[in-house]
Amino acid sequence: MPAERQPLIAGNWKMHQTLSEARALARNIRGELAPAARAEVALAPPYTALTAVYDEISSSPVRLAAQDAHWQKQGAFTGAISPVMLRDAGCRYVIVGHSERRQHFGETDATVNLKLKAVLDVGLCPILCVGETIEQRQAQVTLEVVTIQLRQGLAEITGLSGENLVIAYEPVWAIGTGLTATPDQAQEVHGVIRRLLAVMQIPAQDIRLLYGGSVTPENSAALLAQPDIDGALVGGASLKADSFLKIIAAAG
Ligand code: PEP
Repeated sequence: MPAERQPLIAGNWKMHQTLSEARALARNIRGELAPAARAEVALAPPYTALTAVYDEISSSPVRLAAQDAHWQKQGAFTGAISPVMLRDAGCRYVIVGHSERRQHFGETDATVNLKLKAVLDVGLCPILCVGETIEQRQAQVTLEVVTIQLRQGLAEITGLSGENLVIAYEPVWAIGTGLTATPDQAQEVHGVIRRLLAVMQIPAQDIRLLYGGSVTPENSAALLAQPDIDGALVGGASLKADSFLKIIAAAG
């Protein structure tokens, strides 16, 4: 990985952590983060805990992330949270297009595209998630699926850079299942994503490409050693400070 691409290790807490649990987890991670850690670290708690987590990490290098955003700045969208509100709450990153949003909440490449534009518009950095289902992998259409998700998700967006875009390759079959892509499988897709970004006139060498899908302290070093894997989006293993800290340490 070129020296200028600082690894990013982001913890997606999903629908876990009460306020007191979230505060304690954030405090433990911040408190035990090695000062020399090479990776940037981001935490994505549920909306209810954004402010509590921000209070714990705001004076540290740990960044706040949200798990989703609406594409409007405000309005009659009951239950939704806008990118303006997330910026106001102290977020730096917003996960967009996570497969659980696609699977359970009707997220499409078209809504992902709207959300990316909205998040970028308020100066936040989206973490765009892409990845194939097990059926698609078995049908050997992984690369086509990821290419369509990227082309449609990023359609009509200009001005992208390493500062305002992160992409996470997360094979759906590996999320929360304990099944992980092998380092070779992950690297193959990451390499294709980077080449596609270059074709799309996006500064591919600057964009951080994260792997996500059952990342653990045991498998993280081999994944992070791949030339086009610049970090990890971590679900289950981010809910315990010790396992998350070991993954951060594996990034150098
Ligand atoms: C995720 O939520 O993005 C994820 C990769 O989850 P897990 O690490 O639990 O597979």
